[in-house]
Amino acid sequence: MQGVTILGATGSIGQSSLRVLRRNADRYRVSALAAHSSAEALAELCLEFQPDYAALVDVQAAARLRELLAASRCPTQVLEGQGALDELAADPASDVVIAAVVGAAGLSSTMSAIKAGKRILLANKESLVMSGALMMEAARAHGAELLPIDSEHNAIFQCLPEQVQTKLGHCDLAGAGVRQVLLTGSGGPFRKLPLEQLASVTVEQAIAHPNWSMGAKISVDSASMMNKGLEYIEARWLFNLKRSDIEVVIHPQSVIHSMVSFKDGSVLAQMGQPDMCTPIAHALAYPQRIDAGVEPLDLLSCGTLSFEKPDPLRYPCLQLAIEACWQGQSATTVLNAANEVAVAAFLEGRVGFTAIPKLCEKALAALSGEACGTLDDILQLDGETRRRCGDWLTQVGH
Ligand code: NAD
Ligand code: MG
Repeated sequence: MQGVTILGATGSIGQSSLRVLRRNADRYRVSALAAHSSAEALAELCLEFQPDYAALVDVQAAARLRELLAASRCPTQVLEGQGALDELAADPASDVVIAAVVGAAGLSSTMSAIKAGKRILLANKESLVMSGALMMEAARAHGAELLPIDSEHNAIFQCLPEQVQTKLGHCDLAGAGVRQVLLTGSGGPFRKLPLEQLASVTVEQAIAHPNWSMGAKISVDSASMMNKGLEYIEARWLFNLKRSDIEVVIHPQSVIHSMVSFKDGSVLAQMGQPDMCTPIAHALAYPQRIDAGVEPLDLLSCGTLSFEKPDPLRYPCLQLAIEACWQGQSATTVLNAANEVAVAAFLEGRVGFTAIPKLCEKALAALSGEACGTLDDILQLDGETRRRCGDWLTQVGH
């Protein structure tokens, strides 16, 4: 029996993870569940999965959770505060940590799991975007096994030979015969929208992803293709890429989840339903395979698969991310923080959709030269960027 901890248990990835665990209860037990403030949702999960611990960042919500569990005589112990997530991530009772908190808030607990040498199923791409080399180096130093469950990176991982899979972060792609990694993305809900209408799209339109059902932040990122930009940076670190090693391809049907092209002319693709249970099950059981509860792809009903080059005018966020990736750690930290501020403001109806790239560009120009050699530097730059972006929001406006 392996113990599994889910950080971000009430979110979209958390729910998909629990679906996989429910089906494989003979192999895995839930040792801890953590989330931000949703006491009712977490209480329900505690009653079903009976973890040893549950944690909420929000202190009042944790008190509510304690009451709910006491009323149902559930023995799960409740912890509170950000420190509780870090503690649970390192708890010896769990073998696997699913890092599914959204945004920079996931950095500290992901690092904690890495330092404890866990198998980490990484959904929280923002933490890797922020800490890049530091995270990959920490994983190597502490013998942690970082496995991507972001569907594209999991697809790339599945297409790569074992000699690469077992050396993420410091693998030699050329030595393994790899020519290029082809990162696919659907292009989001605005792929065909006339460009002049982008400024006035609504939140509802932006979060209505054509193929995947996900949390609000990543849905907006998918519409702007900042998600693909963050994934580009994520791939750079996971697979130790050079600029010429990776290309982004729009594939609107999301049947292929990404590809690897080899020296001999072979191109391997991982295909499947757009269901996160597949990459989660893959990484959970790797190198074995378990039932994810996902129907196989019905090729006869897939229709035509098409591919396009991303248009830089439509997707300025993608371009900003690609440039930031090769500029260095401070640029990607600034980009991530600025994007989080802009997306939160967009979701609250305070700025328009096209303010997102404007704010990111402004932040990159002003802040990305700072030194970023340690985790403290990164957290400081993240905080500084958020403060400055808060002030600039009114300037980038609607
Ligand atoms: P979500 O918004 O549905 O869920 C987020 C979870 O994080 C919730 O459990 C919430 O309680 C918790 N959380 C939020 N703020 C927190 C904080 N400050 N401290 C601690 N916990 C906090 O998000 P999601 O769609 O599940 O995405 C989670 C992560 O997985 C993101 O990094 C996203 O980019 C990545 N991801 C998601 C998908 C997907 O299909 N949803 C696919 C690939 C990658
Ligand atoms: Mg993805």
